[in-house]
Amino acid sequence: MSNASRAAELRKLLNQYSYEYHVLDAPSVSDAVYDALMQELKALEAAHPELVTSDSPTQRVGNAPLDKFAKITHSRPMISLDDVFDRSEVEAWVQRMDKLLPGRTHEFFCDIKKDGLACALVYQDGILAQAVTRGDGYIGEDVTMNVRTIQNVPLSLRGTSGEFARFLSGRTEIRGEIVMFKKDFETLNKKREAAGLPIFKNPRNLAAGTIRQLDPKLVAERPLRFVGYDLLREVPAEVPTNMFAYEAMSELGIYRSPEATVFTALDEVMKFVNNWDEKRHALPYNTDGLVVKVNDRAQYDALGTVGKNPRGAIAYKYAAEQATTVVKDIVISIGRTGAATPVAVFDPVNVAGTTVQHASLHNADEIVRKDVRVGDTVVIYKAGDIIPQVENVVTELRPKFARAFNYEKALKDQYPELEFDRPEGEAVYRVKGASGTLLLKQALEHFASKGALDIDTLGEKNVVALVDAGLVKDLADIYTITKDQLLELDRFADISAGKLVDAIAAVKTPPLERFIYGLGIRHVGVQTAIDLASQFGSMDALQHATLEQLEAVDGVGTVVAESIAAWFADPDNEELLRKFESLGVRPHFEQKTGKLAGQFFVVTGTLESMGRDEAAEKIRELGGTFQSSVAKDTTYLVAGGKVGGSKLKKAQEYGTKVITEQEFLGLL
Ligand code: NAD
Repeated sequence: MSNASRAAELRKLLNQYSYEYHVLDAPSVSDAVYDALMQELKALEAAHPELVTSDSPTQRVGNAPLDKFAKITHSRPMISLDDVFDRSEVEAWVQRMDKLLPGRTHEFFCDIKKDGLACALVYQDGILAQAVTRGDGYIGEDVTMNVRTIQNVPLSLRGTSGEFARFLSGRTEIRGEIVMFKKDFETLNKKREAAGLPIFKNPRNLAAGTIRQLDPKLVAERPLRFVGYDLLREVPAEVPTNMFAYEAMSELGIYRSPEATVFTALDEVMKFVNNWDEKRHALPYNTDGLVVKVNDRAQYDALGTVGKNPRGAIAYKYAAEQATTVVKDIVISIGRTGAATPVAVFDPVNVAGTTVQHASLHNADEIVRKDVRVGDTVVIYKAGDIIPQVENVVTELRPKFARAFNYEKALKDQYPELEFDRPEGEAVYRVKGASGTLLLKQALEHFASKGALDIDTLGEKNVVALVDAGLVKDLADIYTITKDQLLELDRFADISAGKLVDAIAAVKTPPLERFIYGLGIRHVGVQTAIDLASQFGSMDALQHATLEQLEAVDGVGTVVAESIAAWFADPDNEELLRKFESLGVRPHFEQKTGKLAGQFFVVTGTLESMGRDEAAEKIRELGGTFQSSVAKDTTYLVAGGKVGGSKLKKAQEYGTKVITEQEFLGLL
């Protein structure tokens, strides 16, 4: 799909979601899914500014107010906030501000971001005169009648003397969020359940829906609360800082979050962020992150806005348990029992704080049930330690070329040499004729073979004996075998049993490349295993490598990279790796010494002094790593002749040094 049509489809879908959320108070997707698609659209628009349209959801706040309420123009727009998701984005935000206000330091005002409905309360001479929803940011709905029933909204501001007393005269606008506490929400739903009434979906929609209906009596029955986050005066200088506004609100009888704090260092801001990441679930209301603002309001105003967002504030969003990505391929992995497991391979995406790029689709039925197709945008779900799952397909974003996945054809294409069948009543296709133990025997023989762990006492006959006796059910089991167990088998006597146990114990810290080769990952031969080991240096790094990083390894193309990814995504294999680990098996990588150790090379074009293979050989001899394409970690791009095109572009993007053949020879 072209960028333009993708942007158009995202716009259409996000506008629909926004309408459901802001106007109907009945969203059809989670905020995480909305946010993920919004991020994609933002990135597309940033890279191709010509794609931005005035109706793009990136340019708008909220949605049009409902006609059933009187419309009120806000004294100052109620704008939106730019989302950030990690420390580097917070740093980038601070750098942007430093550029605009050079030499000025900022204090950071941090508060919890409540997930509710934004509302402005206008007090005239201390008396509540009007309550207005955010609406589209410029025009909101007059919901005064309803808001007056909220118990913690004072109908008149609390009397005070001293510096805050001036807010009791003239126009004082308090902005904040209307929320329902989680415990109130649960109680309400329990009561409804008992009365046989449908239960509400979540506190935010209930709060928003309640405020935006026409019967104040009904509002009064629902336990809503107002939490202030801003105080505005006609003369802005009357409120010098955000903290001052919060102190004023407390004095005036407006509830505001006690958690708000001012920091001077970015490190402290991040500590606050991390601290609340753990503790936020204990807050009485739902939150989707934090708000960080420049504390000084004159600075804040001087920074201005860009589009619909102020430059002086950001919303820090915590890692969501859902994200969206595009399925690049569906590959099939054959597990140790001969079961074929389909795996979706997709563009790397961050879910719940980890980068995920593949997920098991379990079996053929599951693919049909979810109707996952290559090219589809899917919602990925991951919580805590659970294995990432494809939750559902965003069918509205399905490209025209996406065909239903033909499982049997894929099996044939990917494993032309094997036959599969699907036993009656089972969801899983298995390798035909190959019982689980046959495959296990083959796998174990390979694991013990010369190029792999090289356990010479574990040849074909012993493998058969161990598997048939039930001593070995997977590769890792060999590390659990005892001499006594072996002595019970006919094949073993005292010496031979002792020899085998010792030989296995001797490969508890196998060389990484041999271990990788021994796992029997399809398409990974001895040389590829060596290249993978020297590129990644550990099983952990290999397991978490992105497809792009895998493809940068010499000799690894798309097919091999996907096969590696599929192997690691197979839950059987994940369990196997955990088992190796718990049994103390620690593949290790001998860091190469040599003057090019730790350096990564890509050669492009034609070298005059040697061929590519020869160059690769020389680099490896000196401890360096030869890559076939430029990746993040590439140290040098060696240019044979003039370089251009995608390699050069990538080198520039990653800051890779481009050197001439002469310079390369100098290094050698
Ligand atoms: P935003 O994320 O840009 O943040 C601005 C808002 O944060 C303010 O208007 C205010 O109401 C609120 N806020 C809460 N606590 C605050 C505090 N302490 N200080 C300052 N402001 C505070 O808000 P937005 O523009 O409404 O963003 C859209 C939100 O709505 C996103 O969270 C998005 O996921 C959600 N959304 C969801 C769907 C859906 O279909 N699920 C659709 C549209 C929007």
